[in-house]
Amino acid sequence: MPFQTEGTVIKNERIQSLYFLLGIDCPPIANQIKPGQFVMLKVSDDRAPLLRRPFSVYQSCPDHYLEKTKRGCLFILYKIVGKGTRKMTALEKGQKVNLIGPLGNGFTLPPSPLPPALF
Ligand SMILES: Cc1cc2nc3c(=O)[nH]c(=O)nc-3n(C[C@H](O)[C@H](O)[C@H](O)COP(=O)(O)OP(=O)(O)OC[C@H]3O[C@@H](n4cnc5c(N)ncnc54)[C@H](O)[C@@H]3O)c2cc1C
Repeated sequence: MPFQTEGTVIKNERIQSLYFLLGIDCPPIANQIKPGQFVMLKVSDDRAPLLRRPFSVYQSCPDHYLEKTKRGCLFILYKIVGKGTRKMTALEKGQKVNLIGPLGNGFTLPPSPLPPALF
């Protein structure tokens, strides 16, 4: 069931020219989201753009994730195409963002054939 919640930006890094990786600390969504699902992000506190923008979740790190430093986080890989995504590039570490998710049907991954230590 999707819900509205707040997350905290942990990184917003330029990967290459127009592409950025946005990390958000948001345990309620990170712990529920499945592969293929997306979130609706309010890209700024300003009135414009008024509408939230949809983004797939590139990676999520639920609480059972092996890397402790990333627990409860989700990552969005985005490309600047217009005013909303341009505004996103100004998001800074520690800033609060508003999200709705998890949205979409998603799917369940088959279990990994590798033991957890090698995964
Ligand atoms: C379910 C879903 C998941 C998405 N996941 C991602 C993601 O993981 N990473 C990512 O970078 N983007 C993703 N997108 C696209 C992203 O939502 C748009 O790029 C974003 O909303 C554009 O907002 P903007 O304000 O920057 O652009 P606007 O100012 O609204 O639009 C600028 C220009 O880009 C065009 N445009 C806007 N959106 C799209 C689009 N989706 N396809 C083609 N042209 C478009 C507009 O027609 C306009 O010409 C996803 C879209 C959907 C529907």
